[in-house]
Amino acid sequence: MTSDHLLDLDRAHVWHPYSAMGSDLPVYPVASAHGVRLKLTDGRELIDGMSSWWSAIHGYNHPEMNCALEAQLQKMSHVMFGGLTHQPAVELATQLVALTPDALQSVFFSDSGSVSIEVAMKMAIQYWNAKGQPSKKHFLTIRNGYHGDTFGAMSVCDPDTGMHSLFQDVLTQQYFVDTPGCRFGQPCSDEDIADFEQTLSSKKEHLAAVIMEPIVQGAGGLRFYSEGYLRRVRELCDQYHVLLILDEIATGFGRTGKLFACEFADVTPDIMCIGKALTGGYMSLAATLTTTDISETISQGEPGVFMHGPTFMANPLACTAALASLKILLDSPWQSEISRIEKQLVAGLKPCRTLDVVKDVRVLGAIGVVELVNPVELATVQPLFVEAGVWIRPFGKLVYLMPPFIIQNDDLGKLTTSIVDIVSNISS
Ligand SMILES: *Cc1c(COP(=O)(O)O)cnc(C)c1O
Repeated sequence: MTSDHLLDLDRAHVWHPYSAMGSDLPVYPVASAHGVRLKLTDGRELIDGMSSWWSAIHGYNHPEMNCALEAQLQKMSHVMFGGLTHQPAVELATQLVALTPDALQSVFFSDSGSVSIEVAMKMAIQYWNAKGQPSKKHFLTIRNGYHGDTFGAMSVCDPDTGMHSLFQDVLTQQYFVDTPGCRFGQPCSDEDIADFEQTLSSKKEHLAAVIMEPIVQGAGGLRFYSEGYLRRVRELCDQYHVLLILDEIATGFGRTGKLFACEFADVTPDIMCIGKALTGGYMSLAATLTTTDISETISQGEPGVFMHGPTFMANPLACTAALASLKILLDSPWQSEISRIEKQLVAGLKPCRTLDVVKDVRVLGAIGVVELVNPVELATVQPLFVEAGVWIRPFGKLVYLMPPFIIQNDDLGKLTTSIVDIVSNISS
């Protein structure tokens, strides 16, 4: 198929994320990808600054990943998980339990981050139901969060920036407090947490859980908030008998400089969701982890089982990809790689700070964010990045980088330089 033909058929029949059918916005056909480079069908190569939305942490076409998947493919690509089990799932669950905070002992696999959030919310509701408190079925969250696109997940996304206002009438009403005012690295004052505590204490009879992204709010605005705030949230959840769900789908597996972002605050959630980088970006897989107290309470209460079971639960290929990805990560000096990337992001994006069109520049781990005053015009800016030989996909007011951990300094330099150049040419 020629590229033109492919693009014609794409425009005619294929829907892309958050886009209009038949849109004039460009899409770029990728022929292959190796390491940190995406190769387009016209032969151009782009340096990847996105890790395919937080996930491809080891780059593309990793030989060890490929080898592990080819071996698993010869055994079985899938079997149902009802009444059957297999080594990749058991090994992966065991490793995840070992890597996450100690209290998390039970693992529920699902196929995507959004579904792992639905699972977490259902766990929290079933827990309180089993404890004879069925009125505790709502959720409290902070604004500017993002937890996915299914209905339960949408209900706890930011009601304004969350892109879901269209569905407001059919979404369960949840409780929201303002985004923490205290930034990462700053202390959290009583005033910073006051709104949260007030809402938590007044609504506790209705609250199954607090749900939030730890430290880094992802697609809802790429904000980094105070470790102290998260610590206070944990204490208050205990005090008012409300569960804490932490959504580590974006932050998990080293991206922030910690394996999981909750480690910054030394906080253990009651329920944790992981996804995205779990399989190194190879397959769709997510998991919801919880404590023995919650799994036993649900299992001993009515109806005595947890009410969820995806068809492709614990897919053996996906679990194998996750095991291979974890091995590559944990065998690598990932902490020093992330701090190398962090230093270079700070230095490389620094020139943006003086630009009129820029509101803020912030970096944490392998996440570099340039927040503009106004939203980016994707139709004009996207082709400029491609012409510069980089794959950077701005979003609203945010031009950001989250490169694969294997990126070398010269390639990372090209990513930051292209941002500085292109943002400099945006007129205010
Ligand atoms: C991406 C993301 C989700 C949703 O995951 P999907 O796999 O896209 O369904 C949920 N929460 C956070 C924090 C995310 O970044």
